Amino acid sequence: MTNLISRKVVIVGAGAVGSGFAFALAQAGIAEEIALVDVNADLAKGQALDLAHGAPFYRPVHIHADTAPTAYRNAAVVVVTAGKAQAGPDQSRLDLMQINARIVTSIIADIQAVNPNAIVLVATNPVDIVTHVARIRTHWPRGRILGSGTVLDSARFRWLLAEHCGISPQNVHASILGEHGDSEFAAWSLVHVGGLPMNDYCSICRKCDFLQRRPQIVEQVRRSAYHIIGYKGSTSFGVAMAMTQIVRAILRNERRVMTVSAALTGEYGLNDVTLGVPCVLDANGIAEVIEAPLTASEQQELERSAQILKDGLARLE
Ligand code: NAD
Repeated sequence: MTNLISRKVVIVGAGAVGSGFAFALAQAGIAEEIALVDVNADLAKGQALDLAHGAPFYRPVHIHADTAPTAYRNAAVVVVTAGKAQAGPDQSRLDLMQINARIVTSIIADIQAVNPNAIVLVATNPVDIVTHVARIRTHWPRGRILGSGTVLDSARFRWLLAEHCGISPQNVHASILGEHGDSEFAAWSLVHVGGLPMNDYCSICRKCDFLQRRPQIVEQVRRSAYHIIGYKGSTSFGVAMAMTQIVRAILRNERRVMTVSAALTGEYGLNDVTLGVPCVLDANGIAEVIEAPLTASEQQELERSAQILKDGLARLE
């Protein structure tokens, strides 16, 4: 029974992101109970039933719909995907700030009331601002309220680099840092291909003038969500897999490094802001923020991104 409780994951919001995540999490075989909660109770029930019908095909997990706040009791991790999504390719994530901060604040109050020891992973956009507000409301340690940050953006970056170099994405290590949004940037100085720093790899490979291609690749990462939303209305599979890796790192105490959205307390010379930086994830959520040695221009980009988020926070009603 103890194990069952410690591996319970509650997903708030059973829409495109929440249901995609539930599917990926079930396939991953790491949770013992997955509860879906949505203000649209029928949607949560339908998604849970649809997923439960695959039970013979993945490792045992009890998937069901539930209602807030009782569902949050005994959850090891509560994943918040509830709220408005970008309506189309012309809407930015920051445009969702007022309404989604309100929605997530009330969800967080419910979680705090019944399960003050939970770890909360926020995906709702603008994820950095919403995560920041949620943490301030709870006064919880920063490790226990984290956002999905730039984990998905870093995966997109790794995939694009891998395609470009003709190397498996698993051998490309690369991070997008800052806001999960328009001001995010590539930390080129941290990119490694096959264990070699990118510049060393390029000087051996010599198949292209990679310096010229860099801005194009970063712009492709930045515009990814807009392109997908333009094509199919929402993004779901990529973020679902990214969140599954985050939750896996927590449930399995992996000490994996991922660029989740973390509240900074002096790291990188920044305070009072929450954004995507490399963090060590363990059973307590964020165990450490890694202060990577950025170049002067990368540090400037991080500060610019932080300022944009702070300006957004200042505009919050
Ligand atoms: P969606 O409209 O398909 O689903 C959102 C769901 O939230 C709806 O079913 C709605 O009924 C529910 N909801 C709203 N208020 C609620 C509340 N108070 N309690 C419970 N449920 C509530 O939207 P989506 O495409 O799943 O996107 C969800 C969020 O995730 C959006 O903010 C979107 O921008 C964000 N997102 C984040 C990332 C990321 O990398 N962080 C990626 C994609 C989307």
